[in-house]
Amino acid sequence: MSGKTAVVLGGGVGGVVTASTLRRMLPKEDRIILIERSGRHVFWPSLLWLMTGTRKVQDVQRDLADLRQKGIDVLKGEVTRLDPATRTVYIGDEVLQGDALVVALGAELAPERIPGLAEAGHNFYTVEGATRLYEALQTLHEGRVVVLIAGVPFKCPAAPYEGAMLIDHLLRKRGVRGRVEVAVWAAEPAPMGVAGPAVSQGVKDLVAERGIAYHPSRHVSRVDVAHRRLQFEGGDEASYDVLAVVPPHVPPAVVQEAGLTAPGGWVAIDRESCETRFENVFAIGDVTGVMLAMGKPLPKAGVFAHAQAEAVARTIAARWTGRDDEGRFSGNGECFIEMGSGVAGFARGNFYAEPVPEVKMFRPGRHWHVAKVAFEKNWWRTWF
Ligand SMILES: Cc1cc2nc3c(=O)[nH]c(=O)nc-3n(C[C@H](O)[C@H](O)[C@H](O)COP(=O)(O)OP(=O)(O)OC[C@H]3O[C@@H](n4cnc5c(N)ncnc54)[C@H](O)[C@@H]3O)c2cc1C
Repeated sequence: MSGKTAVVLGGGVGGVVTASTLRRMLPKEDRIILIERSGRHVFWPSLLWLMTGTRKVQDVQRDLADLRQKGIDVLKGEVTRLDPATRTVYIGDEVLQGDALVVALGAELAPERIPGLAEAGHNFYTVEGATRLYEALQTLHEGRVVVLIAGVPFKCPAAPYEGAMLIDHLLRKRGVRGRVEVAVWAAEPAPMGVAGPAVSQGVKDLVAERGIAYHPSRHVSRVDVAHRRLQFEGGDEASYDVLAVVPPHVPPAVVQEAGLTAPGGWVAIDRESCETRFENVFAIGDVTGVMLAMGKPLPKAGVFAHAQAEAVARTIAARWTGRDDEGRFSGNGECFIEMGSGVAGFARGNFYAEPVPEVKMFRPGRHWHVAKVAFEKNWWRTWF
């Protein structure tokens, strides 16, 4: 009987998969603690369907307390401090120590970094913002919708483009698309650039085919809320009636203060084991920064957080049970690209391939949309 404790920080994609996989792999004498400040788990890809009215708030989230029946100690609370050298976690006044720590705290959304953005825009990277965006789109009869990518990096490289295409489809269904312009203004030079020029061009074409204007490499500096105008570095301006926002993403302060980060602020890890420079302290998912040979970081995506979580759980279980089969994250990933009207695209590949990732985009079709819906269903069935 080992009687060890694994402390998993964050109840998002990476945290839930790590805790549940560890629970399956370890004897019941070992304790698995999962700490999450919101107390809920959100399946983020479904937010795109929340903003188009095909999901309700209750469809996209679950109470993490449900995991207690599986033998996971779920703790609702904010991790306020972290000492990786002693593997100690502080949740306010409560102190916990683990034999292994898994940091899966994600990326913080920081709309307040751009003056006016928080008041003006619907941040569709939150449940509340996606809900409000749906309401705003329902009452729009003419004017302009802008999808704004306010900074890089941001999670799910496809999501803003999927968002724009789903908005296009919703407005067509409502019969108002002829009177509403849709545009994407992006802080990045091209969509899904890490996946390579073919995928990037493929996404650009999909957006263009729907009459959605695309303005890349535009860094928003301010929003004039009263006049509903966006101001960009270099002098460009754009007006909007409905503003759908992907806000700037920043690393959580707690990991920076813990000395876990590399320049840029994201947590530095070994790209295959996901271990930090502290033994038995791992980090996975959006909180990490992994630089690829091509000179760009591994995108922030649930598919990677998921695979990293499984690899880390396997490593911890191997170390604690004396097995010789530690986990490794391969860099493989895939992504659906929702387009509206029940059609989606799909891209898959290896992001660790050198000198550049090898990613292929498949021809869009109904079957990819059906597969994405099945993936969502399977998510809840598997993890809750
Ligand atoms: C609209 C949208 C669509 C997306 N679609 C896709 C998709 O189709 N495919 C895909 O692969 N990815 C997609 N993603 C990205 C994916 O959701 C993220 O990359 C993934 O959730 C990352 O997992 P994570 O565990 O690293 O972080 P998260 O899932 O964000 O979890 C981090 C958790 O930590 C908690 N936390 C943070 N700080 C603290 C603290 N101090 N104390 C306690 N708890 C804390 C947070 O509340 C959060 O629950 C999408 C994202 C969005 C927003």
